[in-house]
Amino acid sequence: MSLLYPEFCAACEAPLYNQEKAICTKCEYEMPRTHFHKVPGNPLEEVFWGRVKIENATALFYYMKESKYQGVIHKLKYHSRKDIGIEMGRKLGIQLKETESFSSVNYIIPVPLHPKKQNKRGYNQSEQIAIGIAEYISAKLEVKTLYRNKHTETQTKKGRYERWENTETVFDIKPTEKLKNSHVLLVDDIITTGATTEACINATEACINALQKIEGIRISVVCLGFARF
Ligand SMILES: [Zn+2]
Repeated sequence: MSLLYPEFCAACEAPLYNQEKAICTKCEYEMPRTHFHKVPGNPLEEVFWGRVKIENATALFYYMKESKYQGVIHKLKYHSRKDIGIEMGRKLGIQLKETESFSSVNYIIPVPLHPKKQNKRGYNQSEQIAIGIAEYISAKLEVKTLYRNKHTETQTKKGRYERWENTETVFDIKPTEKLKNSHVLLVDDIITTGATTEACINATEACINALQKIEGIRISVVCLGFARF
């Protein structure tokens, strides 16, 4: 790994010591963890209330603009740092492993990227997080069922209502038998909510709506960063 990735903390850029991976001990310690996995009815779950039905939701940390942890997500998405996703996923996996409400999860499903975007980036960052999680819980990674339509791209220039309409049709599922009556864990990188950015949870929500077409399915949600503006 040391030959493949630069050995600097993805948050503060300090050199990493031997056992440190992706972020240094200080940044690991200072990370504003949400501990939502221990809190039923937590603020992330609240975001979905009255919109879509979910079982549980948790986030690793509070995502704040201008914080050093914003850099962690940025490097994961734009600097080819798949390793960050896997490592942060492991931190989530450790928490989920010890949490009763997540113990019945059968499948882990990352929010799909637009195929064009994934080709350009070379990977889906949410899938990397899912890989890290899968190392700790007894659930299988599932990337074939939920997909993003090729012909629909999020139109940021459109008005709010149109954008909503558009996101609704972005995700769909392939026919599946194995996911029937299962508990799936939907994995996203960041979930943002707030008075002015209400539309931002649309991608996660649209995925949930698509997955809800599967008979007897139960859905929990997990992300790295939870942002409330
Ligand atoms: Zn650091």
